[in-house]
Amino acid sequence: MTTSEEETPQVVSTVAGIRDLAAAARREGRRIGLVPTMGALHEGHLSLVRAAHQACDYTVVSIYVNPTQFGPQEDFAQYPRSLTQDLALLADCGADAVFAPTNEEMYPHGFATWVEVGSVAEPLEGKCRPGHFRGVATVVLKLLNIVQPDIAWFGQKDYQQALVIQRMVADLNVPVEIRICPTVREPDGLAMSSRNRYLSPECRQKATILWRALCAVKEQVASGQTDTALLAAHLRSMIMAVPGTTIDYVAFVDPQTLQPVRRVDRPVLVALAVRIEGTRLIDNELVSP
Ligand code: AMP
Repeated sequence: MTTSEEETPQVVSTVAGIRDLAAAARREGRRIGLVPTMGALHEGHLSLVRAAHQACDYTVVSIYVNPTQFGPQEDFAQYPRSLTQDLALLADCGADAVFAPTNEEMYPHGFATWVEVGSVAEPLEGKCRPGHFRGVATVVLKLLNIVQPDIAWFGQKDYQQALVIQRMVADLNVPVEIRICPTVREPDGLAMSSRNRYLSPECRQKATILWRALCAVKEQVASGQTDTALLAAHLRSMIMAVPGTTIDYVAFVDPQTLQPVRRVDRPVLVALAVRIEGTRLIDNELVSP
């Protein structure tokens, strides 16, 4: 029996508890889906949950603000936490169970093992946020081992993260299929993100520059520009024209290796990270000649 769409998911906070639920579902021959999140859920997250509910018979959503993926100067303490609201949102999307562990449950005393992914984890976010992907890979591998899903869902919004997880799963022979869903955007194009809650109304307006700049690149490529140095210069100047913005990076890279490319003569990933008065936002888009 699959949980009806209106039913509130079962919430468990212990590894043993979620293992029991998943094991029971598995014994019944159900396909298990996992959607890892840090909560403060929005339509982007919910699109992954709906996709999981469609493809699987038992959908687990994890809600855990993983401390090990935040740098010492980052926003771990301020990161929005809204479990009650999250559970209400999940009730309509077909989530069967929510795993919301404590830090002690995930990193008990004596914890000493880390997953370090090379190559694809090194540029872009890896460079700006040292240790970030080590924390991400470690917690995601733990979640995959705890829930043992058939399929796990990630968003293209965090393109590099999805690539890092795919690399890890392939390299460590983790028996799970990784699926990636498109970025869900606000009507004005801003990629949905839990961090958008930090933005003042004025900064929220400024934040539309990320998507506007990516769209400008797409238009230039469509009209024949292939030189990524010129495209990047234009993209940078568009962003810098908005007061209060700082660029962490603007990159034109190979979608598989994340290495820089000179020409858009095949699909290229345009990735950017921009700070708007203290709030760090990322976005990306694939462009093709
Ligand atoms: P987070 O809670 O930010 O760790 O995100 C949890 C998952 O949701 C990750 O796989 C993200 O890539 C995905 N996600 C976040 N924002 C979006 C979005 N706007 N569209 C699609 N997926 C998203």
